[in-house]
Formats: sequence, structure tokens, C-alpha cells
Amino acid sequence: MQPMTIPEIISAVDGTWLNPRKGAAPVTAVCTDSRKIAPGCLFLPWVGERFDGHDFIDRALDAGAAGCLCARRPELLRPDKFYIQVADTRLALRALASAYRDRFAIPFVQVTGSVGKTTTKEMLAAVLGAKLRVLKTPENFNNDIGTPLTLLGLGPEHQAAVIETGMNHFGEIRYLGEMVRPDIAVISNIGDAHIEHLGSREGILKAKSEIFENLKPEGLAVLNGDDALLNTLDLPFRTVRCGRSEHCAVRVMDMADHGVAGITCTVVSPRDTYHLTIPAPGEHMAYSAAIAVAVGEELGLSTEEITRGAASYEPAGSRMRVLRLRDGRLVLDDCYNANPQSVTAALEILAKTECGRKVAVLGDMGELGDLTDQAHYNMGALAAMLGIDEVVAIGAKAEKIADGAAQSGGSVTHFATKEEAVHELTDQLGTDTAMLVKASHAMHFGWIVEQLKQAY
Ligand code: ATP
Ligand code: MG
Repeated sequence: MQPMTIPEIISAVDGTWLNPRKGAAPVTAVCTDSRKIAPGCLFLPWVGERFDGHDFIDRALDAGAAGCLCARRPELLRPDKFYIQVADTRLALRALASAYRDRFAIPFVQVTGSVGKTTTKEMLAAVLGAKLRVLKTPENFNNDIGTPLTLLGLGPEHQAAVIETGMNHFGEIRYLGEMVRPDIAVISNIGDAHIEHLGSREGILKAKSEIFENLKPEGLAVLNGDDALLNTLDLPFRTVRCGRSEHCAVRVMDMADHGVAGITCTVVSPRDTYHLTIPAPGEHMAYSAAIAVAVGEELGLSTEEITRGAASYEPAGSRMRVLRLRDGRLVLDDCYNANPQSVTAALEILAKTECGRKVAVLGDMGELGDLTDQAHYNMGALAAMLGIDEVVAIGAKAEKIADGAAQSGGSVTHFATKEEAVHELTDQLGTDTAMLVKASHAMHFGWIVEQLKQAY
């Protein structure tokens, strides 16, 4: 973060300096966690469900923060620290990030969607990174705290920003978009994720469409062109649809799936034809790549740069990470998250691996509302139909996965917890075996992957 003076902060957040004095130094960092304080930072107390950051103001100041924002006036004000009172610290963080973002006249790309936001964000950053210095959302830092903190990480070196924005409820993409104010708005697709809060796929489309409320009038919308709901949108912006359908301006052709080695495809745009090699498995990677072609062209990258950038893609975290363990054991670590679309894609990749034996370790998928039982049942049935040799279902909701697999003739075991399952899993991972490990984030299946790595 570049320095911000106290008057600049006050003006951005519409705050009141409770103990004004001359000579207070500008701040060069904003911290919300009192355990991770950068010297001389502004401490912003976050009010969460379980903790109220106001209780940690003194600790943050002791740790070296230069001052703080606060929605409640502390009893004692330290003369060597500054205190700026605001109505709401969450809104103040957004206002601060928004004012700071205004300093940067670079292209901003905002990404949302039901599935594949992080994948698309990483692909965009890889492609744009072939020419430009890119600020991207770290990991999955895509909410009302992650987005402003990401923006506050902008520096003079950056030439483009790729910001992932996530949502569970109406209004959240609008809230985040108000500080990103993108030049390019990307929607990866509309699926069932978070349907619990949004009622229907139409509800999800409406919520995601909030991204356009902050798109600049001369901006560009980039959409998955094979998504039936996204195809119903008629936007007052230049719009590029990317996908396999004939109507797509950026069209994926000749896709070849090389299993865990990744995919190759040809992408045809009005400008050129791209022969892409993407070192990550799954046909859905072609959508991210086509979207990156559209954005890369918009930002003036050459065909060579776009092609080279796509080849440099690396998945973030445990998103279909391919781990090669001893004696031909392959673990597909996709335990970052799970919903019906991504489990389907992952099972298809597992089914296509060249290993002699295939095992799917599937856990609960969250936030599916009324679809919960049926969706789990379907995943089990799909695994059996794809010829997966063994399904290990773990968790309360996953009992339905076991039912679905068994009903479709699959071999399946069910465990209530991952701790109970772990011995079975290490036994199941024999030589020449591929094992997919996937569940919603809350199941913490990363632990299983660690156990397997230690065993082999
Ligand atoms: P979150 O809501 O957690 O931020 P996300 O939208 O960022 O999720 P990713 O993390 O990119 O999604 O992908 C989640 C999983 O879905 C990964 O396993 C990834 O391989 C898979 N995936 C990505 N894109 C697609 C797609 N278009 N269709 C199906 N699966 C996909
Ligand atoms: Mg994400």
C-alpha cells in the first residue's frame, strides 16, 4: 500500500479524528487482525459473528499499530496513537479501499460466477501476467473483507488488477463492485452454488448480474456463452460470449482431454486463432482460457503472449491438484470445495485417469438447501455409472452419496467422519490407483490428503 495521510483517511471514511494532533505519520498498511499487525499500520476492528475487533484495539496498538478506526469510542485515548471514529468499520473499510483504488488508472477485471471464479481469476492473471504486472486476489479472498484488503495491496508497479468477488446473498456483488468499479466484468457461469439463500437459478443470475451495476459504460462484459441463463442477458454493454456454441464470439474448438496432464484446445476469436495447451485437467479449463483470450485481446496482449500465459497457469490451493505418490499412486486433491457441478467435473477426470483402479472419496456438499439429498444421491449414482471402482462417502449428508452409488451397482463404504475413514483410505490407495478427494471446504478434507501423503 502507498502512504495515506490521516486527513486522506478521514475524508475517505467520513470519520472524526478523536484526538487530533500535528505530525502524525501517514500509514502504509491496513490490518484487521490484531495478531498480524504491520508496524505503523491503521488497525481496523472488524465486527464478526464471534468476535468484536474493538476488544482488541489496545492489543493492536501495543503491537505497533499507529492508530485505529473505531465505531465505539474507547474509554482512554493514548496520546501517541490516532483514533478515527466512524459509523461502521465494515463500510469504512470499503470506503477506504474505494478511495485508494481511485489512485490507479489501470484496467480492473472483476470476476464472479457460481463455479470457477478462482480458476478463472488465476487463468486471467496467468494470461495477463505474460505482458502486465498483475495484482490478483490472493487465494480465495473474495468477500467483504478480502476484496478491500486486496485493493489496498495495489502499488505503482501494477498494470492490471484481477479481482474475484464471491457471494452468498443478494446485494453482495453490488457491495463489492462499488469498490472495484471494473472496466471488464466476467461471469464464469451460473450453477447451483448458494441456491439455499437465493431461491433458484434465476435468483442466482439476478444476484450475479449485480456486477454490471458498477461496470463502466464503455466497459466490456465477458460471459460464459454456453450457459443457458447467461444467454438470456441482453446487456447495454459491449459483450463477448465465450464457449463452444456457434453463437460465441470467442469459440472453443477441437478440445482434447489429456487427463491429468491437462487439455489442449483451439480458440477462435474475431482477431485470431489460438492453439492453447493448458496444464490443468478438466474440460471446464477451456472456458477459463476462452475468457482469458477475450480479456487478453481487450487489454492489447499479442497472440503469443496469450498463448504463453495460458500455458503458465497453475491452480491455486487444492483445486484439482495432481499429486503423484509412490508406485503409481495418484491423488487428485480437489478438497478445496464441492458442489454438484464441480463434483461432476472431478469424477469425469477421475474416470479418465490411466490408473488401473479408481477410488472417489466424497464428502458432504454444503448450502444446497432442498436439493441436498437429491444432489448427494446423484453424485453417488454418477460415480457408479462412470465405472469408479470404489466410492468412500464421508459425512452425514454423504450417506445419500452411498445410497446413490449402491443403487447404481457401485461398491461403496460410508463413514461418519474422516477420522474413522482414514485407515480404509490408506488401504484403498494401492499401487496403480487414482484417488479423488473432494468435499465442501467445511469438511477439511485437506487433512485426508496430508495423511495419504505421509503414508506414501
Ligand atoms: P468459491 O465459491 O469457493 O470461491 P470458485 O467459484 O472460486 O469457488 P473454483 O475454486 O475456481 O470455484 O473451482 C471450484 C472447483 O470447481 C474446482 O474443483 C475446479 O476444478 C472446479 N471447476 C472450476 N470451473 C468449473 C466449471 N466451469 N465447471 C465445473 N467445475 C469447475
Ligand atoms: Mg473462489
